[in-house]
Amino acid sequence: MDHDLAVAWLRATAAAVEQRHQELTELDAAIGDGDHGTNLRRGFAAVTGLLDELDPAAPPGSVLTRAGTTLISKVGGASGPLYGSALRAAGTALPAPTADMMDLAQALRAGLTALQKLGGAAVGDKTMVDAFEPAVAALERAAFDGFTLREASALAAEAAEAGARATIPLEARKGRASYLGRRSIDHQDPGATSTALLFAALAEVSS
Ligand code: ADP
Ligand code: MG
Ligand code: MG
Repeated sequence: MDHDLAVAWLRATAAAVEQRHQELTELDAAIGDGDHGTNLRRGFAAVTGLLDELDPAAPPGSVLTRAGTTLISKVGGASGPLYGSALRAAGTALPAPTADMMDLAQALRAGLTALQKLGGAAVGDKTMVDAFEPAVAALERAAFDGFTLREASALAAEAAEAGARATIPLEARKGRASYLGRRSIDHQDPGATSTALLFAALAEVSS
């Protein structure tokens, strides 16, 4: 991952959020407070503004770190600090000026660790972690097996999508949806769904 790919990834994520914000908000209306799409739309609009003004020589890690800081400051909901911390930790872990597959997998693992440290969620709690963890695990396996970024990110996107769908039968144990107890069952988690968009965007710009 270099500067251009980091920027392209965030722009593709912003475009996906812009296109799918209604669906994210509807999912959140069912088991939360109906603002997930709005939250991310506001956050990624601010990220897009940041990208427009970025120094073209900025290393990829600093692109991710600054985007993370922007999400933390612009998104009021839980998802802003969670995604923001993940991007900041991933950006800090990413070597400059370019990162190979293994570097990227390790950086995103560091991002996930930060997200879990902040939110306290494990796989199975019906949160974004349910999509993020399998995506990172797929990237790590693919990096270990010597796959290209194109192949690896496609596998990660599939894993994230499957992880998001797998939240449907779960009872939420973290976040607002956990207040519903068993009534959170039979709904897909909005944050896991937006995480699937994040990894789909990575696959899109890597192919
Ligand atoms: P809020 O719940 O504050 O309105 P959002 O609606 O933007 O924030 O985001 C909700 C999503 O955030 C949930 O669907 C879930 O995936 C994720 N989430 C909430 N709390 C946690 C947590 N403690 N750990 C991980 N993810 C969480
Ligand atoms: Mg919400
Ligand atoms: Mg909210």
